[in-house]
Amino acid sequence: MAEASYDVVIIGGGPGGYNAAIRAGQLGLKVACVEMRETLGGTCLNVGCMPSKALLHASELWDAANGEFAKIGIEVKPKLNLPQMHKAKDDSVGQLTKGIEFLFKKNKVEWLKGRGKIVSKGKVEVTAADGSVQTVEARNIVIATGSEPTPLPGVAFEDGKVIDSTGALFLPAVPKKLIVVGAGIIGLELGSVWRRLGAEVTVVEFLDRITPGMDTEVATTFQRTLTKQGMTFKLGAKVTAATSGRDGVELTVEPAAGGAAETIKGDVVLVAIGRRPYTDGLGLESIGVTPDKRGFIDHDHFKVADGVWVIGDVTHGPMLAHKAEEDAVAVIDTIAGKYGHVDYALVPSVVYTAPEVAWVGQTEDQLKAAGVQYKKGKFPFTANSRAKINHETDGFVKVLADAATDKVLGVHIIGPQAGEMIHEAAITMSFGGASEDIARTCHAHPTRSEAVRQAAMDVEGWMMQA
Ligand code: FAD
Repeated sequence: MAEASYDVVIIGGGPGGYNAAIRAGQLGLKVACVEMRETLGGTCLNVGCMPSKALLHASELWDAANGEFAKIGIEVKPKLNLPQMHKAKDDSVGQLTKGIEFLFKKNKVEWLKGRGKIVSKGKVEVTAADGSVQTVEARNIVIATGSEPTPLPGVAFEDGKVIDSTGALFLPAVPKKLIVVGAGIIGLELGSVWRRLGAEVTVVEFLDRITPGMDTEVATTFQRTLTKQGMTFKLGAKVTAATSGRDGVELTVEPAAGGAAETIKGDVVLVAIGRRPYTDGLGLESIGVTPDKRGFIDHDHFKVADGVWVIGDVTHGPMLAHKAEEDAVAVIDTIAGKYGHVDYALVPSVVYTAPEVAWVGQTEDQLKAAGVQYKKGKFPFTANSRAKINHETDGFVKVLADAATDKVLGVHIIGPQAGEMIHEAAITMSFGGASEDIARTCHAHPTRSEAVRQAAMDVEGWMMQA
């Protein structure tokens, strides 16, 4: 039988892969997407962004039912039904992954179910779960194989006891004591879910600060807020071993700067020290490609080799679903002879805790290191009327603008719905706008977004409204 032949074969059906496939279909290219999971959507839809946000939302409501409700005159006696919470999450995830299948059909994308391996230039072998193999021809191959959790040396994963982020999305019971190793975004989001549901949460971090990459002033406030909520931090601490027994897991922890080791105990340990690119069994050697030291595939404007392209978590840039999605559209547009471009400087970051943290552009630390002269405006949510009325006054907005031109260089928000508010900053910055542009734009009252305007007004030195 003749091999099926495609304009584009994409390996991986996550936000990078599925968006690339749909874009290719929309541009009239003959396209197939190889995905070995039972469902489409990759890490993000199956075991990442979406299930974590379902648990974050549910646990926030649980928290409100246990505190805020009574404060505003709603009296209830909440009872936790964890199996139902998981079911609601799984049902939503199921609907989302089916939605991608529907979009594939609508845009004439073929889903080749199985593990994809590049066997030579323009040829991909697909091995299905039942062991059957087919080889397809591809004028272009797009690698979108994503990433996997990074293991911690000396700490082996063990079902239900020493878990990764996927394990933390499916815990059958609330642990009494949860130790999170790694104070990055994923660890803090999932840690805050289980803390709200009743776990005592200790976060152990190698560095002497949380959330590297986040503006230091914001990270300091963030840590203070999480501590106030009941999370405990052990910074500058290195986990070197784990021993699990019947009554939990014992971690050996040393000061990162050297010194005597101590042990700490938890029922469950969540290892969330980062993610690493996934290229297992991909056949890169068949096309003469070697990933870099950290496992990422290098590229020149998405191109890895003749007719081979790469996008998403498996290559450089922030390991975020929306970055993978931007890559996806840009790579297909490039393949189709159009102009494909991503502005990596304007990829927003969001931490979906309560309060949320969001930022776009440069931090103060980066501006200082680069010797850029900048102006800074700040506005606290304690002075924002909507935040006050909703009892969500933790946090602030910070706008950083070029001292000479007033061009916005970075916006940082810690506060309610920061992840929604950050986009007015991203749009302003994508147009090369100034903080005065934000300051002179009428914002509806009463909204949390008024705090963004007030912070921009503070850059201008204008009087703040009460
Ligand atoms: P992936 O989503 O990892 O998809 C790659 C796919 O390729 C997988 O389905 C895999 O099965 C498949 N694959 C790999 N190799 C092969 C092969 N050889 N053959 C066939 N198939 C193969 N990002 C955000 O932007 N916002 C968030 O809120 C957010 N929350 C997260 C929460 C958690 C707990 C985690 C773990 C991640 C989160 N992320 C979030 C990160 C986000 O999930 C990733 O950045 C995103 O999924 C990357 O997309 P991708 O397409 O590059 O790779």
